[in-house]
Amino acid sequence: MPIKSVYIFTFIVVFTLKLSSGLNIPETIDVRIFSGNNISEFTFMPTKGRYLICDQNHNKLSEISPLTSLTIKRNQKGFEILQDDSVIFSGKNIVLQGGSFQNSFLIAPSGNHLQARIYDGDIRIRYENNQVNIINAVSLESYVAGTVQSESGFNRHEEFYKVQAIIIRTYALNNLRRHQREGFHVCDLVHCQAYYGKTVNPDIVRAVEHTRGQVVVDNRSALINTVYHANCGGQTVNSEDLWPHAMDYLRSRIDTFCLSMPGAKWEKSISMRELRSFLSQKHKFQPNESQWSQIKELKQNSRIHHLDAQQEVHLRHVRDHFGLRSTFFSVQEQNDTLFLSGRGYGHGVGLCQEGAMKRAEHGHSLREILGFYYQNSRILTLEPEVVF
Ligand SMILES: [Zn+2]
Ligand SMILES: [Zn+2]
Repeated sequence: MPIKSVYIFTFIVVFTLKLSSGLNIPETIDVRIFSGNNISEFTFMPTKGRYLICDQNHNKLSEISPLTSLTIKRNQKGFEILQDDSVIFSGKNIVLQGGSFQNSFLIAPSGNHLQARIYDGDIRIRYENNQVNIINAVSLESYVAGTVQSESGFNRHEEFYKVQAIIIRTYALNNLRRHQREGFHVCDLVHCQAYYGKTVNPDIVRAVEHTRGQVVVDNRSALINTVYHANCGGQTVNSEDLWPHAMDYLRSRIDTFCLSMPGAKWEKSISMRELRSFLSQKHKFQPNESQWSQIKELKQNSRIHHLDAQQEVHLRHVRDHFGLRSTFFSVQEQNDTLFLSGRGYGHGVGLCQEGAMKRAEHGHSLREILGFYYQNSRILTLEPEVVF
């Protein structure tokens, strides 16, 4: 092999390690982008490198240079691609494949208020279920960096960004089968993890690079489910109090670090009539007088999980129905109105992001932070291997 080729191939690094769970780590993560939007027309423009326009059998139809654009338009049978005002493709499947070593592109949806976004890697465009779906095939580390930005924002402590990078990488690898039937790994919504394209934030890029390949595992070296939420309100939740399974690393913990952060408190009022109709229509539950007085005086100094002592209604259903920030709230009644004063933001299981931010600012290491929210877990580095 010529020296030049060796040089190029050493940069094509993919993770091929098999964990004890038998997980095969793919070369790219396939993310359905703009998942929540039914886009019927958009512009595609390479921002770095040229792109090859290929059919589903990887036959090259055309190519496109940086900073020139294509228009992709849905039609009655699929979609068409226009280049310089001529239709160069009409059908249901196309691949826009980077033709250089590093590639990125911009997607600008037309006709609605969505902002343009820039992504690394390739895309596949598919017409299915009467809509145009866009799949971004992107390297794991680039996906992690973009997701750190979408999930945790700007101006965070460097150690917190490292924590986020590790748990986002772990969560992605642990949930690769979530959308298997639909033909991609993860969506770009909070259902999986929010991913709104690449980041150029140098702090995030550095944190991802410093933690490259690092994941959180249990004592059998299996990836753990690194769930996280914005603010626990002072106490995290046992996994079995919200979901079917008890996980020994997802234990309820008292967390005082998030109490001064923006997501620590919330308030909301709902009418008795609204609550009564929710309980009777959705849960066939018509509380008697003493049950009503318990509900109207519900107090949570530490977390409970049901609205009523008989455990007819789980608080997560109340949260979902009324769009509450958390299930960690107390109630006061006045003139047929229930005033809810709540704590925290999110489901409360696993890592509390605002608690972790504060811990990082107080000098806690990423190992201490991960060890607090995911008990008895440890960090494993997936060794990169050169693949030819
Ligand atoms: Zn999803
Ligand atoms: Zn917290």
